Amino acid sequence: MRNYKLEAIVIKKRNFAEKDRILTLFSKEKGKTEALAKGSRRPGSKLAPYSDLGTLARFYISRTNSIDIVKEISPIFVPEGARGNFLRTQKISYLLKFTDKIFEVDESHPKTYFVLKSAIQQICEREFQLTALVFLANCIDELGLEPELFVCQKCRRKIASKEKVVFSPKVGILHRSCDAEGNPEILENETKLLRLIFNSPYEKIVKAKVDEKIFGRSYQSLLKFVEWHFGKVLPEGAM
Ligand SMILES: [Zn+2]
Repeated sequence: MRNYKLEAIVIKKRNFAEKDRILTLFSKEKGKTEALAKGSRRPGSKLAPYSDLGTLARFYISRTNSIDIVKEISPIFVPEGARGNFLRTQKISYLLKFTDKIFEVDESHPKTYFVLKSAIQQICEREFQLTALVFLANCIDELGLEPELFVCQKCRRKIASKEKVVFSPKVGILHRSCDAEGNPEILENETKLLRLIFNSPYEKIVKAKVDEKIFGRSYQSLLKFVEWHFGKVLPEGAM
């Protein structure tokens, strides 16, 4: 039996046997992985307080022939700032569910790990308007599915300023005159916002202040894109 250490975020937990839990962890090295936290539902268990969703910790794990076993948890960040705050808790829960749904086990996604970690901390402390949106964009990008935002996907011409464009949840933007599917129009500022979130470093984007209406519309566009590619992951109006 070999031991290893993992810095990871708890993205899912489910009850197992009588007193145990199976934790789904998301780490920089391994991406999504599962481990058994024995006795963690027993009152007073030293694993109990740190097996909460959104907890960032160092996990000391034993490799076994079946599921690996958590021996010890040393917390780095516990999402206490979200406790008792329904909206914050809900937002974090969406991010975790989304991560769990779209990534496969044992595939490393270091950028997503970094962004998820920052997003949880930000939502707990002082929320930035764009945190969750940027997180979605990052995941899409890491899976190589980024929507096209500069060139019309039909005629291959570059989109010029003031041209009427629509957003297709399959591929990205198209001239309205090139679209045969009746996709919804998107405003120039929405295109700008989507370009910003897909092309700038995380730290820069989350600090941008965006008009509520543009934010809402861009979010809906991106959500439709996500749903087309991954199926329904998030409830209507999430984030
Ligand atoms: Zn076109």
